[in-house]
Amino acid sequence: MGYVDEVLASVIEKNPSQPEFHQAVKEVLESLRPVIDANEEAYRKDALLERLVEPDRQFMFRVPWVDDKGQVQVNRGFRVQFNNSIGPYKGGLRLHPSVNLGIIKFLGFEQIFKNSLTGLPIGGGKGGSDFDPKGKSDREVMAFCQSFMTELCKYIGADTDVPAGDIGTGAREIGYMFGQYKKIRGLYEGVLTGKGLSYGGSLARTEATGYGLLYLTAEMLKCNGSDIAGKTVCVSGAGNVAIYAIQKAQQLGAKVVTCSDSTGWVYDPDGIDVAALQEIKEVKRARLTEYKNYRPNAEYHEGRGVWSVKCDVALPCATQNELTLDDAKTLVANGVTAVAEGANMPTTYEATQYLLENKVLFAPGKAANAGGVATSALEMSQNSERLSWTFEEVDSKLQGIMVNIFHNMDDAAKRYGFEGNYVVGANIAGFEKVANAMTAQGIC
Ligand code: GLU
Repeated sequence: MGYVDEVLASVIEKNPSQPEFHQAVKEVLESLRPVIDANEEAYRKDALLERLVEPDRQFMFRVPWVDDKGQVQVNRGFRVQFNNSIGPYKGGLRLHPSVNLGIIKFLGFEQIFKNSLTGLPIGGGKGGSDFDPKGKSDREVMAFCQSFMTELCKYIGADTDVPAGDIGTGAREIGYMFGQYKKIRGLYEGVLTGKGLSYGGSLARTEATGYGLLYLTAEMLKCNGSDIAGKTVCVSGAGNVAIYAIQKAQQLGAKVVTCSDSTGWVYDPDGIDVAALQEIKEVKRARLTEYKNYRPNAEYHEGRGVWSVKCDVALPCATQNELTLDDAKTLVANGVTAVAEGANMPTTYEATQYLLENKVLFAPGKAANAGGVATSALEMSQNSERLSWTFEEVDSKLQGIMVNIFHNMDDAAKRYGFEGNYVVGANIAGFEKVANAMTAQGIC
């Protein structure tokens, strides 16, 4: 058995009931084969892959809090510090009922390579809880966040591990967590990113993941003789990533006709109204069923169905494994030319292979959605300098970072004879830097 196969088999054996983690490791290691094969002896001797797939440490803890009826609720909290060979652990906190250790490990593993691809000094980590902020009062959310941080604060710090937002964790949650960290640790430091602008947040961080997704997609299309302007785009999701992806796509001259949430999806033939979407999702925290009140010509459908709409470009911005093989077949039959992942691992392994085989330009999430964490690293820089940069400064740095990521993954794919395969390119480019740093730092 080859080295990659041995490590894959052992990951599956040692981490039962963590299918998403297996999937993420498989996708990365499979595409690293050319690099691993070329250095097999040295990597094997150093157990480089075994060290890469085993987190530095994993915290799992009880999060008790009191709801509005006076009832005590207990959730489970997680923080996985995966790899800090190129910088302090960095990665978001996901608050969603689907969260378990396997999900956090898949996200943390992806984060290592994503953060490396940004070119900035940040390691990989991830955390969260099975707490569901949906339908909770502000006071309940605050009670949860304070309890969560009471435990988490023991393991994080501005130079150690810097969490941020993810699904379910936005400005409100980051604010409550920052307040609690400051109170317990007595430190006013950049321990979290995605902070409010009045207490150390960065301009353009809110928009960064969605905007970055479009900057990378536009560059990918341009370098393949196409143009984002004039394209019909399908977006899934209606959260932070989706909203700002739609906004930037429209600014760049594309027409976005769909979005979705956990209950249903919208088709708006005239193009999604971002202001309406922001009011429904960011202000009212309501369901997409309300969209028709703002746009009578739009259709609302229960369930899932975004990928059945004919489009040139598909941007999955909701959650993992939301774009299946059947969806990929429909997209290809409808003439899709590019898919770029705004969410983390939204495309299943089989769907990804199908899109690649059918010559669809495919930008994997660890490259395409890296704009969020990259801008978090810019927030860390501003906190260290005790300065804030203008929106234009941050946005233009973000643009430069996304264009660089595209070219780094494109070059890496070419170097190993996989021209145009950005999955292979992104994994190799992300891996090389981490592997070099791990090797230089000895066995640890
Ligand atoms: N949760 C985002 C991600 O998946 C952002 C993480 C961060 O800003 O640290 O990359």
